[in-house]
Amino acid sequence: MIFRTTRTTRPRPALRRVRTTPTPRPLRHRLDASRVEEIPLHAADGVRLGLTRVDPGDRGRPAVLLLHGHTASADMFLLPETRNLVDVLLDEGYEPWLLDWRGSCRLPYNETGRRYTYDDVALYDIPAAVSHIRERIGDRPLFAVAHCIGSLTLSLSMTAGLVPGLAGVVSQGVFLTPKLAGRTSLRMTVAGELLRTRIDHIPVDFRTVGLWSKYTPLFALASRGADCPDPTCQILHNSAWGTGASLFVHENLAEATHDRLAQLLGPAPLWILPHLRRIELARTVVRWHDGDHRYRALPANALDAAGRIDTPVLLLAGSENGLWLDSQKLCRDVLAHRRPELDVTYTEIPGYGHLDTFLGRGAALDVYGHILDFLGAHR
Ligand SMILES: [Zn+2]
Repeated sequence: MIFRTTRTTRPRPALRRVRTTPTPRPLRHRLDASRVEEIPLHAADGVRLGLTRVDPGDRGRPAVLLLHGHTASADMFLLPETRNLVDVLLDEGYEPWLLDWRGSCRLPYNETGRRYTYDDVALYDIPAAVSHIRERIGDRPLFAVAHCIGSLTLSLSMTAGLVPGLAGVVSQGVFLTPKLAGRTSLRMTVAGELLRTRIDHIPVDFRTVGLWSKYTPLFALASRGADCPDPTCQILHNSAWGTGASLFVHENLAEATHDRLAQLLGPAPLWILPHLRRIELARTVVRWHDGDHRYRALPANALDAAGRIDTPVLLLAGSENGLWLDSQKLCRDVLAHRRPELDVTYTEIPGYGHLDTFLGRGAALDVYGHILDFLGAHR
């Protein structure tokens, strides 16, 4: 026998468990399951996304596409513990559609699997959802309500002309002119450089990483000066995944929401930081892929292409936004100066931070009325 198969009796080291199923994990809601239609949507580059339609029970309503922030998911609009945005839209005569784009914590790509940039979201995910919804609703109006990176990437899709003819857009937190607090910006750079070789994402659930792990220093840093003993809350509220920003006004969250933050927000991938950093330095949404012809449909600089915006835009922000500061007010001012022909308004929500504009226990009273007023004026 020339070739001999050698077998070792030593046990092989355990492989890291990687989630490979592209099926989104179940949504958490209190709707009648028969009203929730989950659509296996594939983006043009083959990535499986999540698209959910909530059946309002009658036809002919304007549709509203909801876009979550990075590491969140469609769950952020469906909180069972509060009167959520989907409840309000259904009651006010709209048909809600929820996209889980590839940065959703319901999907595996955020933590494992194929890496991406925000170019991919703007080029593939959002246009795929809009075109699918349009096929279903015909010529009924289609609005979009977008939070954080969902809104930032929507601005790139819009200025690329990839989602023309929306009836109106509500943008929360940040749109065309991203501006981060100085220390957030600095820490994003430092963390990115220091940690990139050792870890590829920052977890939020302390229970899954254990007391002693390579992440312990991050949690320890986030706990400094924190009033709340919950480590997940600390890393989000006190530190925004280690960046030093704050994601919400603490007392605006219901206790049930506070206690399940680790379900609502997933780990933050560090490999996205170079694109985010380039965007932040430019103070506008810029394309990452410059030499790759597949991305040439996207503008190199979304603000320079703002003339392609063909729909009214409502810019929303909490007065206490601890992540994007007054980016939305800045956006209104810049567009009023550079593109006075655009229909852009700005509304500030007193006493609100960033995520609590949707996750807050009083959001239906304090925030959603502004969204409904806007939708009602353009339906
Ligand atoms: Zn807390």
